[in-house]
Amino acid sequence: MDYLKKSVRDIDVKGKKVLLRCDFNVPQDADGAIADDKRIREALPTIRYLIDQGAAVIICSHLGRPGGERKMKFTLTPVASYLSELLGQHVMMAFDSVGNDAKRVCDAVKPGEVVMLENLRFNPGEEGNDPEFAFRLASLADVYVLDAFGSAHRAHASMVGVAKYIPAVCGLLIEKELGVMGKAMVAPEHPFVAIMGGSKVHDKLGLLNSFIGKCDAILVVGGMAYTFFKANGGEIGESIYDGKSLELVRGLYAEAEKKGTKIYLPVDTVIADKFSNDANYRVVPAGCIPAGFMGMDIGPKTVEEFARLIHEAKTVVWNGPAGVFEMPNFAHGTEGIARAVAESDAVSIIGGGDSAAAIEGLGLQDQVTHVSTGGGAAIQFLEGAELPGIAALLDK
Ligand code: AMP
Repeated sequence: MDYLKKSVRDIDVKGKKVLLRCDFNVPQDADGAIADDKRIREALPTIRYLIDQGAAVIICSHLGRPGGERKMKFTLTPVASYLSELLGQHVMMAFDSVGNDAKRVCDAVKPGEVVMLENLRFNPGEEGNDPEFAFRLASLADVYVLDAFGSAHRAHASMVGVAKYIPAVCGLLIEKELGVMGKAMVAPEHPFVAIMGGSKVHDKLGLLNSFIGKCDAILVVGGMAYTFFKANGGEIGESIYDGKSLELVRGLYAEAEKKGTKIYLPVDTVIADKFSNDANYRVVPAGCIPAGFMGMDIGPKTVEEFARLIHEAKTVVWNGPAGVFEMPNFAHGTEGIARAVAESDAVSIIGGGDSAAAIEGLGLQDQVTHVSTGGGAAIQFLEGAELPGIAALLDK
């Protein structure tokens, strides 16, 4: 995948109207208040850059799943108000995304001002990638800037359609995503260690496959490790495993052997007598889990051994927790991995979702090179798949 794409810094936006696609799909509480403002804060550098450069900024985003209908539960109005506070300047809200109000507001917007269009998904044309919807959206601006990495794997109108009509570049958030992750995937420094966890082996087989031959070591942790033990003939008790992936996992070993990638499994496991934080638990050697018990976390010896490998690495990619980290008694393995990644001098990339939450929960986000903003998109990017939103941007 070509990650050398033009960014907003490669073009002149002075006096231009810029349509900025953000990911403002923020979690809200029952009263509609913004429960986590991370995505809004992350968008600030690009918005401020555009304001400083003298552009008029027209922000668009989706929020939730209104299913192509105007459902006010999913209005972006609270996001516009919140953004106004963060920016210290008024963000004007348009009451639609491509209709008369959007046109009126965008016709009037001046350099240095910011407006926000209403939820793109109030119109079925967004998710349907309708060319007419994309054209009307593009007609509001002179230039398009994509800064919604988390949606870049979706071929929706505001991600790919608009780029057919006006010049399209990436924002500062995506520029960083592409810079760090692109280099890691195309020309990583070795040793390159991938840590793969979480529960859904099947979803991550593509990523595992793409790491074989590229990485020196793959450390398999979390629920997915039991499928690996099962495939190797280990005893896993009542631990989760994916019976449909056993053959594929055996195939991975064969490939890894051929291509010089070493697959490491945990050496010890924290087992519990039920799936609950107040279960009885103890540590046993991995692959020797008695009936009636399930593996909930990697054990302390594994943390120690894996930390050593992580410390020796020059590139580290981590995706997925090492245990049921939502339960404090089974969060130690994930915390140990998070600390090892943070301590290492390697270029370290956290592939979104739970691993990002674990790093941020420990306040270690500033000690890693990059926490990707897009879960599914990050995985697809690391797999080497072409993300439609990125492919649509101008090449450098
Ligand atoms: P995924 O969506 O595949 O990244 O998996 C994330 C989920 O895996 C988290 O909710 C963890 O609680 C879960 N998980 C991690 N380790 C285990 C385990 N040993 N048994 C069951 N679930 C696990």
